[in-house]
Amino acid sequence: MKIHEYQAKEILRRYGIPVQPGEIATTPEQAEQIAQRFGVPVVIKAQVYVGGRGKAGGIQFGDTPAQAGDAARRVLGMNIKGLTVEKVLVTPKSDIKEEYYLGIILDRASQAPVVMVSAAGGVEIEQVAEETPEKIVKEPIDVRWGLPPWRARELLAQAGVPPTVVARGGAILSQLAAAFTGADATLAEINPLALTADGQVLAADAKILIDDNALPRQKEFAAWAEPEEANPIEFEARAEGLTYVKLDGDVGIIGNGAGLVMTTLDMVARAGGKPANFLDIGGGARAETMKKSLLFVARDPQVKGILVNIFGGITRGEEVAKGIILAQQELPAGMPIVARLSGTGAEEGRAMLAGAGLTWGSDMRDGARKIVAAIAAQGK
Ligand code: GDP
Ligand code: MG
Repeated sequence: MKIHEYQAKEILRRYGIPVQPGEIATTPEQAEQIAQRFGVPVVIKAQVYVGGRGKAGGIQFGDTPAQAGDAARRVLGMNIKGLTVEKVLVTPKSDIKEEYYLGIILDRASQAPVVMVSAAGGVEIEQVAEETPEKIVKEPIDVRWGLPPWRARELLAQAGVPPTVVARGGAILSQLAAAFTGADATLAEINPLALTADGQVLAADAKILIDDNALPRQKEFAAWAEPEEANPIEFEARAEGLTYVKLDGDVGIIGNGAGLVMTTLDMVARAGGKPANFLDIGGGARAETMKKSLLFVARDPQVKGILVNIFGGITRGEEVAKGIILAQQELPAGMPIVARLSGTGAEEGRAMLAGAGLTWGSDMRDGARKIVAAIAAQGK
């Protein structure tokens, strides 16, 4: 489960990790009042469940309360990677001199939490890992003992964190490991760990993911869940009776039955494509549901084409074809759609698709290849 930065910082605070005080505002006026109360320059930080807010314009500064209000006006309502900013964290601005990275992730391969430390903080760790992997020090933790401060200090020193920061940074990393275990986290990250001009070391940003399987015993954190915020499309889909899960690729996938949809994901991957989602329209879907599903899938800005894979039974091929044709008029112009129909009404459905100039796959593999090829052709 995702939680916001201000909530992650609340957890860190309980473990004695230094963080700036902060308050949440949902309107520019509130942000201005909070800044007034702090009486110092502030940072206005979008509270959305994605990283890279700084680059997206979701982190802004205000030297005066009026400027803080203006900054909040710019950030509130902003769309960051598909999520709308509904609240901002207002926090005193630190004079940051250097930024480091501290992270702990549950690593399935080593069957343990793995600590990561880098002196190259601030930027996303994925980027450091890709470009300069030697700048990240990694170490699995034995959960029976946790990460003692002396070992944490060694890791920081090894990562090239300056000696003057190692003692306090080590204490913070050791407590981060305690917080990771205590909160049943699957990820706990401080990026950046900031060294300020006046020599303080503090967590300027925090990200924690809580293990969903632990929510029954982490009742306090479970109550922080905002499913609508975490994934507005998944939330709406559920309200419409569709099962939708967002994935990372660009091929939209729609099918009937979880097994068939899973197989379709595999087929697309085998054809060299990357699925953008899982969408099961369930049994007996009519044209209207089909249309709605296509429009749902297309709302993900990453989607470049859609593959529809239907095994007709109670769901009829004609209804599916009708839904696709209806949706096509509202989809972004030129978005490729490939349908594979079999079973009840498949022939009639295919004839309708052909009449509307739409592509169909003779079987699942053919459909997967066609959509992957259509997307590749678009990119050229
Ligand atoms: P992210 O972009 O979502 O990771 O958000 P962060 O909270 O990490 O902020 C992004 C960047 O904004 C940081 O790496 C800092 O460089 C900068 N930043 C954030 N808070 C402060 C602050 O209090 N003072 C200064 N000078 N910079 C800050
Ligand atoms: Mg950050």
